[in-house]
Amino acid sequence: MAQFRNFRMVNYVIYGKGSFDQLDEILAPQRKGDAPMIFFVDEYFQDKQAFLSRIPLRGKDKIVMIDVTYEPKTSGVDKLRDDLQAEFGQVSGIIGIGGGSVMDTAKAVALMMTNPGSSADYQGWDLVKVPGVYKAGIPTIAGTGAEVSRTCVLTGPTRKLGMNSDFTTFDQIVLDPTLTASVPVNQRFYTAMDCFIHCVESLNGTYLNAFSQSYGEKAQTLCEEIFLDKAVWDEDADEKLMMASYAGGMSIAYSQVGVAHAVSYGLAYVLGTKHGIGNCIVFDKLEEYYPDGVEKFKRMVQKHGVDIPQGITKNLTEEQFETMINVSLGMKPLWENALGKDWETIMTREKLRKLYERL
Ligand code: NAD
Ligand code: ZN
Repeated sequence: MAQFRNFRMVNYVIYGKGSFDQLDEILAPQRKGDAPMIFFVDEYFQDKQAFLSRIPLRGKDKIVMIDVTYEPKTSGVDKLRDDLQAEFGQVSGIIGIGGGSVMDTAKAVALMMTNPGSSADYQGWDLVKVPGVYKAGIPTIAGTGAEVSRTCVLTGPTRKLGMNSDFTTFDQIVLDPTLTASVPVNQRFYTAMDCFIHCVESLNGTYLNAFSQSYGEKAQTLCEEIFLDKAVWDEDADEKLMMASYAGGMSIAYSQVGVAHAVSYGLAYVLGTKHGIGNCIVFDKLEEYYPDGVEKFKRMVQKHGVDIPQGITKNLTEEQFETMINVSLGMKPLWENALGKDWETIMTREKLRKLYERL
């Protein structure tokens, strides 16, 4: 293993209110003959004609609505790929317009257009060997950092794990904060807190370095400014949250997340709890590990009148607790980042069980 990670970043970034309307000219040079551009769009926009009409369709281009009731699965990714190959043979590119769920689906399908087999074969680190087709990400809700990361998180037959590779990163992202204005208050909070929690976990982790710290501190400050200092939510808040998400993603690119993510992966696996809300449910109980971050989080929850579900593990069976603990303790780099090399002596099965029981 090389000592320093040499990671690939997004090739092109456009930022600004209304920058979405430059998409046609951005895509033009990426079109290959008459192979279409495929637009994966969050189903929220299904009946939003005014928005749909701004998508620059040309020739055989197609809009595919993506159901985000559940987080992306390898089976869903494979099916989207099979359908596109059956209909078009090859495509010029895949454009993901939505939250983390749609952006991750777009990344995964773009890779699977050129890589053989099932996306489940590529869940892990650096298993993807061939570049996919051109791909662009356009967030319509901010916080996950999926727009900048080198992974796309998928639930597969045996695990929930991303296709982590240099080929996974988007070729282009379009950061237009006006697209996020319609996100409902609770959902906005859950996804934004994914960013806040990324920062707290990265800044308090043993993997911290100046690269991660520079981005993490900025992103955390932006979150506090918009969720604690601002009297009302406005356009400026949407702009800052979009940049917080970007910087938060950059921060973990060169460090790692921690306890909240490790514990929330167990919840997701056993209960299907979604990433943003799952992280909030866990982080709410992590005062022992992140006292300062949790105190601020609780103030934000209170100020915005958001519901953080309680008692979600009340009726779980012994077997379900065991599975959750196994999934969580399997996230070794997260625990090592959070608690150091001796993490196994600190986070014992008994201790983790007690934590799960409090959620
Ligand atoms: P999401 O994509 O699941 O969307 C959440 C909800 O917001 C959905 O109901 C969606 O329809 C709605 N929505 C989106 N845009 C909207 C808009 N403009 N107006 C109104 N409603 C809108 O949520 P998310 O939190 O962005 O993403 C979560 C997913 O991201 C998970 O699958 C998680 O695993 C993944 N994730 C990936 C990474 C990565 O690095 N690749 C990092 C963190 C999380
Ligand atoms: Zn996260």
